[in-house]
Amino acid sequence: MFGGGSDGKEMPKLHRVEEPVQNTPKPPQVPISAIVLASVGGMLLFMGLFFLLVAGLGVGGFLIPSLAVIAVAAIMMLVAWNIWRKTRALHEERQEEEKDRLLCDYCGGTNAEGDLQCRFCGAPLR
Ligand SMILES: [Zn+2]
Repeated sequence: MFGGGSDGKEMPKLHRVEEPVQNTPKPPQVPISAIVLASVGGMLLFMGLFFLLVAGLGVGGFLIPSLAVIAVAAIMMLVAWNIWRKTRALHEERQEEEKDRLLCDYCGGTNAEGDLQCRFCGAPLR
């Protein structure tokens, strides 16, 4: 018998390189609902225009469906635009709050985003 057989398999060592956390200001994230609505609306618009082209070629029965599809597409894109606009407004509001927070109450110094203490006098930021 073969004695003392150690399990020859070595577990592969996973080296996880931790990426440095960057403190760059993030652009407002577009909500998924707005992306989906805009892309589906765009596709519908394309389809509606195609139907309109077919109707323009003289094929009967395509004009009304094409107009309906274009109308639905327009509504979807409007809703998507509205969601995006609201998101951006909220983001700007938050940025204003952050700017206000970064102004030191004690010495009036302007600090960088993410700072918890004033760089100039060391006072805690709100
Ligand atoms: Zn200060």
